[in-house]
Amino acid sequence: MEPILELRGLRKSFDGHEVLRGVDLEVRQGEVIVVLGPSGCGKSTLLRCLNGLEPADFGTFRFHGRELTGRGVPWREIRQKIGMVFQRYELFPHLNVLDNILLGPLKVQRRSREEAQAQAERLLERVGLSAKKHAFPRQLSGGQQQRIAIVRALCMNPEVMLFDEVTAALDPEMVKEVLEVMLGLARQGMTMVIVTHEMGFARAVADRVVFMDAGIIAEEGDPAVFFTKPQTERAQRFLDQFLTIESWRG
Ligand code: ADP
Ligand code: MG
Repeated sequence: MEPILELRGLRKSFDGHEVLRGVDLEVRQGEVIVVLGPSGCGKSTLLRCLNGLEPADFGTFRFHGRELTGRGVPWREIRQKIGMVFQRYELFPHLNVLDNILLGPLKVQRRSREEAQAQAERLLERVGLSAKKHAFPRQLSGGQQQRIAIVRALCMNPEVMLFDEVTAALDPEMVKEVLEVMLGLARQGMTMVIVTHEMGFARAVADRVVFMDAGIIAEEGDPAVFFTKPQTERAQRFLDQFLTIESWRG
């Protein structure tokens, strides 16, 4: 089966500093890929390249086998197929929950309010937030806002969802409710690329782990293998840090 997204030899520099130094990645239908790696290794840049927010300096980017380079690429349409959720939920403070969710479906996709709102309400129910549809972001907890941000992305009917450390800014008691929503999506077959530092979750959700170090994919494979017997010393050291922290949590 042809991958949905395919990166080949991706390179990206900022101010002469090469942040991605030749990355190859394929994302297939229904696959859940977890991207791990130390801070600054290029994970966020990789995700931004994956939905075309960040133009690569070198390399190719294919979407359903079609190479996306040069002029005339319908980025607007393609980006609608690739949903992204960030660490900061970025809901519009002056819009209530429903209006935040419906902005894209109505303004960008030009769908009817009736149809889009029905979908929004189904999605809100799925994440347990039906009662909040008229609330404003400031009236919601961080975990609730992040679940709304996920619903907002889902309501565009993306083929792939990208998640960039979406629980990193949350208080610990809210992390679980967001991870559960993501786990539910994975179980329903959503194609996902997830950057996270939640190792237990990563292990539970991943079909494939991609470990990045200093702008390259240092190691890639089955989570059962990666988490028990990583192949590289760098990955071993990375995992050891998390084991130490988890043992403190006890
Ligand atoms: P990660 O998400 O793994 O922490 P990032 O992809 O955010 O890593 O960043 C990798 C490196 O690229 C860092 O050194 C960061 O400072 C740099 N970087 C990322 N985005 C930009 C940008 N827009 N301008 C300049 N430097 C950037
Ligand atoms: Mg990052």
